[in-house]
Amino acid sequence: MNKKDYYEVLGVSKNATDEEIKRAFRVLAKKYHPDVNKEPGAAEKFKEIGEAYQVLSDKNKRAQYDQYGHAAFDGAQGGAGFDMGDINLDDILSNLFGGGFGGFSSFSGFGGNSRTRKSARRGEDLLMHIKISFEEAVKGCKKDIRLTVTENCDECNGKGGFGEKKCSTCDGLGVIREEQRTLFGIMQTQKTCPNCNGSGKTYKEICSECRGEGRVKKNKTLTVTVPAGIDTGNQLRLSGKGGAGINGGPNGDIYLEFEVEPDKYFERQDDDIYLEVPVTITEAVLGCKKEIPTLNGNGYIEIKPGTQNYTKLKLRGKGIKGVNSKSYGDMYVVINIIMPTKLTKKQKDLFKELAETDLETEPEFRDFQKALR
Ligand SMILES: [Zn+2]
Ligand SMILES: [Zn+2]
Repeated sequence: MNKKDYYEVLGVSKNATDEEIKRAFRVLAKKYHPDVNKEPGAAEKFKEIGEAYQVLSDKNKRAQYDQYGHAAFDGAQGGAGFDMGDINLDDILSNLFGGGFGGFSSFSGFGGNSRTRKSARRGEDLLMHIKISFEEAVKGCKKDIRLTVTENCDECNGKGGFGEKKCSTCDGLGVIREEQRTLFGIMQTQKTCPNCNGSGKTYKEICSECRGEGRVKKNKTLTVTVPAGIDTGNQLRLSGKGGAGINGGPNGDIYLEFEVEPDKYFERQDDDIYLEVPVTITEAVLGCKKEIPTLNGNGYIEIKPGTQNYTKLKLRGKGIKGVNSKSYGDMYVVINIIMPTKLTKKQKDLFKELAETDLETEPEFRDFQKALR
């Protein structure tokens, strides 16, 4: 049997790079895809291109092909024996094009002898952005989420119609097969049945509620339990809560992506939290016990005499337990000594009296004296 050289099929040279092969394939696959190109022979050409690409894009297969030619893959007759049986051109195409090229999903390339595509498809995924407060994020919460989601039609039970019959075009298989004799043996091409869209069934009467789609859009309110410790950017997956599956396919998922609103006092850094505490000059000088808010009610910190500005006090384990963490983070209290600006006469007098005393006993003052010329 005459088979075209794979390099010729893709129009590349024998020493083409992987990138050149891929590029050539993309261009040709787009041009000859049966969903796009209705000219006679396009489907054959498309299969040929796919087959060539399948071999030349694979390092091992390409090496075999370079050495033995087409005989390398003539498994049925005892050659080097690559099993081309489970190649699925759709998979290759959706990898290359990211599934974004028109109706590729409706076309099963070649070698689909063991695959029966009943065009059962997964329902669509939904991504929703949810804003929650700092407190809700720390403690967890329940949130009502309003959304529009595709569900099975109640009227027809998701079937799309009434009076079910076997599709006569595909005899209930959902796909139409064509057989073709090639060097590989008998190859089967199959494509989704256009009459029943792959379901294998047709109906006497189309459901008016969903216009035969079997699915309808519905507004819903979902109550979601948001686990404690959620941070901005965290996602929560609600498995199977997305769009209803098509032709018996699984439901899609809902992804919730969170944005945590900043708190007025607490600042989060991973699982640690920071709290700035204003302290008077006398509290810092003399030391004190100070009441502060924590994530679990109020608590006390001990400020030692002579505490410097921006001293950080660590409260171990008083931070947040992140959704993916095993333990709690820490809380840091940052001391912010506030200089008094509005003094009473009495306070001014006391400061003046204080200024008469020697306050420059710290080493910093002596060191600084040396800087003076
Ligand atoms: Zn319906
Ligand atoms: Zn059919």
